[in-house]
Amino acid sequence: MNVSDVVVVGAGLFGLTVAERLADRGMDVTVVDRRAEIGGNAASAFCPRTGIEVHTYGSHLFHTSNERVWAYVNRFTTFTSYEHRVWTTYRGEVFPMPINLGTINQFFRSAMGPDAARALIAEQAAELDGREPANLDEKGISLVGRPLYEAFIRGYTAKQWQTDPRLLPASIISRLPVRYTYDNRYFDDTHQGLPTDGYGAWFARMVDHPRIDVRLGCDFFDPTQPVHRGAVVGQAPVVFTGPVDQYFDLAAGPLAWRTLDLQQEVLPTGDHQGAAVMNYADEDVPETRVHEFRHLHPERAYPKDATVIMRERSRFAEPGDEPYYPVNTPEDRARLATYRELAAQEQGVHFGGRLGTYKYLDMHMAIGSALTMVDNQLADLP
Ligand code: UDP
Repeated sequence: MNVSDVVVVGAGLFGLTVAERLADRGMDVTVVDRRAEIGGNAASAFCPRTGIEVHTYGSHLFHTSNERVWAYVNRFTTFTSYEHRVWTTYRGEVFPMPINLGTINQFFRSAMGPDAARALIAEQAAELDGREPANLDEKGISLVGRPLYEAFIRGYTAKQWQTDPRLLPASIISRLPVRYTYDNRYFDDTHQGLPTDGYGAWFARMVDHPRIDVRLGCDFFDPTQPVHRGAVVGQAPVVFTGPVDQYFDLAAGPLAWRTLDLQQEVLPTGDHQGAAVMNYADEDVPETRVHEFRHLHPERAYPKDATVIMRERSRFAEPGDEPYYPVNTPEDRARLATYRELAAQEQGVHFGGRLGTYKYLDMHMAIGSALTMVDNQLADLP
C-alpha cells in the first residue's frame, strides 16, 4: 500500500474520533474495518420494509456529562430531546427501571416517601455491616438491599453474564443509578438524545474529509489485504482498536467476552410494547431484553401498522462471535496485565477503544478517551 501518515484500525467511535482529529491536524489517515459499515456497534440502518431506524447491535443511547465530548459530537449532528426510560418485567408484573421510588413502592406495595424508603433499604442492606462491597453481588445488595437485588438484578445479571456475581466487578452495576425520587430516566447525564437524522449520517460526517480514506471489508489480520499488520506496523503509526489479545496472537491466552444473539422481527402492529426497551428480570425467560426501535424517535413519521423489535440474549463469545462485554474475571485481569505490558512495548502502535483496552466503554467514553489519546499519546505526530 501507499502508507498514509497514520493507520487507524477499527471504524468505531474511538477510531472515527482519532481519524477526524488527525485529519483536521493535516495528516493523511487510512481507516480500515473488517465490517462493511462504519460506527462499530453503534451502527444503525433504516429497515427497508418500515423505514424505522434499527440499531443493528442493540439500542444505543447517547448520553454524556462531559462538555468537551458534547461540544465535539455537536459538530457532526444535532440531537433529539429523547430521554431513555426502561421498564422491567418480573413475575408477570412491569416495574420502572432503574430502581427508583416508583419501583420500590410498587414492589413493597407501599407509599413510602424518600426517607422511609432509604431507611428500609439501609436495613435490608445491613448484612454487609458497612463493609466496602468487593464485587457485583455485594454492590447490588449494598445499593438496593437483598429483596430488590434478588428480584431485579440477580436473575438479569445471571442471564447477562452467566458468571458468579461474586466474581464480577462492582463497576458493572454502578452504571445504574438508584433514586429515591420518581425520576425514572435511565441516565443521570446532563446531555442525552439521539442523532436527529440517525447514527449513520453522524458517522459519515465524521469521515467526510479529503484526508480520510476509509477501507471497509478490510481485515487487519488478513495478510492478503493491502493494509494488514505485517505491511503496516513499523512503516506508519497505528491506532489499533481491535481486540488486544488477537493483536498479540493470544500470547497470554484469550480474554473472555460476552456476545449477544439479536433476533430482529417486523410485527404487524403500530406498537408492540409501549417503550423502547423492556428488560426481563426472571431467570427462566431467555431474553434479557426486547428493543422496539420506533419509540426511540417519537418525532418521526413511522408507519402506524408495523413495528420492528429485537430480542436480545447473551452468551459467552466463541471464536468468530462479535465481542460485546468484557467478562473481566480475575483470570482475565491477569491476562490483561500481560497484554498491557506487551502493548506498552509495541513501538508505534497505540491501543484504544473497547476492544483495544478490554474495557466496556459507552459511546461518550470512547469519544472522550480518543480525544485524550490525540492530545497526549498522539501529540507528537506531525
Ligand atoms: N442490570 C440488572 N437489571 C436490569 C438492568 C441492568 O441487573 O434490569 C445490571 C446487569 O448486571 C447489567 C448491568 O446492570 O449487566 C448494566 O446494565 P446496562 O443496562 O447499563 O447495560 P447495557 O445497556 O450497557 O448493556
